[in-house]
Amino acid sequence: MLETEEKLHCEGCGAHLQMEDPNAIGYIPESALAKVPIICQRCFRIKHYNEMSSVTLNQDDFLHMLGSIASKKALVIHIVDVFDFEGSLIGGLQRFIGNNPVLLVVNKIDLLPKVSNWNRIRNWVQKQVKENGLKVVETILVSARKNQGFDRLLPAVDEFRQGRDVYVVGATNVGKSTLINRLIHDYSDLEAELTVSQYPGTTLDLVEIPLEDGRSIIDTPGIVYRHRMTELLPKRYIKSVLPDKAMKPMVYQLNEGQTLFFGAMARFDFIKGDRQSFTCYMSGGVNIHRTKLERADELFAEHKGELLTPPVLEDVEALPEWTKHPIRAKQGAETEILISGLGWITVNSTVGADLVIHAPKGVKVAVRSPLL
Ligand code: GDP
Repeated sequence: MLETEEKLHCEGCGAHLQMEDPNAIGYIPESALAKVPIICQRCFRIKHYNEMSSVTLNQDDFLHMLGSIASKKALVIHIVDVFDFEGSLIGGLQRFIGNNPVLLVVNKIDLLPKVSNWNRIRNWVQKQVKENGLKVVETILVSARKNQGFDRLLPAVDEFRQGRDVYVVGATNVGKSTLINRLIHDYSDLEAELTVSQYPGTTLDLVEIPLEDGRSIIDTPGIVYRHRMTELLPKRYIKSVLPDKAMKPMVYQLNEGQTLFFGAMARFDFIKGDRQSFTCYMSGGVNIHRTKLERADELFAEHKGELLTPPVLEDVEALPEWTKHPIRAKQGAETEILISGLGWITVNSTVGADLVIHAPKGVKVAVRSPLL
C-alpha cells in the first residue's frame, strides 16, 4: 500500500498510482517512486520508447540492417499500411532476411469503411504479397490505434517465434511506433525496462523490449520511402493527407474530357471512354476539384496552393515536377489506381477507360485490382 496513495496520480496519464498489481492501470514499482516526474510504468515505457524510436534510415543503411537479420534466428514482423499497401511494402524483403519467417501485419484497418469484408481484404493482401515474391507465415489485419486484431497478433507472435527474437520492420508512418507502444503495454516482461543496443559496426539504434523467455522484441529504424507522397511533403501535412478516421468514399460521375485535382498534389484525367463513375478513397483533408481537361493546366497555374490545396503555394513549388502516368483501364477488368501516400481511385465500371495520372516525379503510381 502506498501511504499517500490517495494523493498520488501518474503525471503522465493521471491514473491512480498503485504498487500491488503490475497488470493493472497505474502500476509503479517502488524504486520509481523516488524519481521525478512520478509516472506509472506504462507511461515510463512509452516516454522512453518515443525518445528512442524516432530514428529513420535511407535505403542503403536499411538494407544493411535487414541483411544482418539473416544470420540471426528471428521472426520478422513486417508492418505495412493498408492505406498505402504498395507504397509501404518492403521490396525484396525476403532476399535480405534469409530463411527467417515473416509475419505480415497490415495496419490502419480502421481507415477502411466499416462494412468491409475482412476475408476478402485478407485474400487480396495475400495475392499482392505473392505477386511481390514474399512468403509470409500469416497475414494479420490490425488497427494499432483502435487496438483491433491484437487478439490474433499476440498468439501468432508466440506461435511463430519459437525461441527467436522478434524484429519489427517497416517504412516510416506505417504506425510502427503506435503498434509497439501497444506491445510494450500488452506484452513486455513487467520487471524489465527498454534498452537500446546497436548493430555491430553501425550506429543503428535498436529498441529492445524484453520478453519473459529472455528473448526480445526488437524495433528497427523505419525506412523513408521517397515514393510516398507523405514523405515528400513537410511533416505538418501528414494530418491532412493521412486520413484519421474511416474514409468516406467520394464518387464522381465523369464524362471523358474531365479532370479531378487532388489538392495540388496530383491530377486524374479521364481522356477517353463512356460516361462512368470513379470512387476516390482519400483523406477528407484533401480538396478534390473537378474541372474540364482543357482548362486543367490553366486552373493549376492560377489556383495551385489556393483553391487547390493542400499544400500551400510555397510547398507546391518545392515538390518535384509532375510526371504523367498513362493508364488503360481494360474493358472487362476491374481497375484501381493507387497514388502512394495519397490514396486510391477505383474505376467502377468495366467498360474501359483511358486515363492519365499526373503526380510529382518519384511518387509511386500502381495499378491493381480493387481492395474493397
Ligand atoms: P511510424 O513512423 O511507423 O512509427 O508511425 P507512427 O506510429 O508514428 O504513426 C504514423 C501515423 O499513423 C500517425 O499519424 C499515427 O497516428 C497514425 N497511425 C498509427 N497507427 C494507426 C492506426 O492503426 N490507424 C490509423 N488510422 N492511424 C494510425
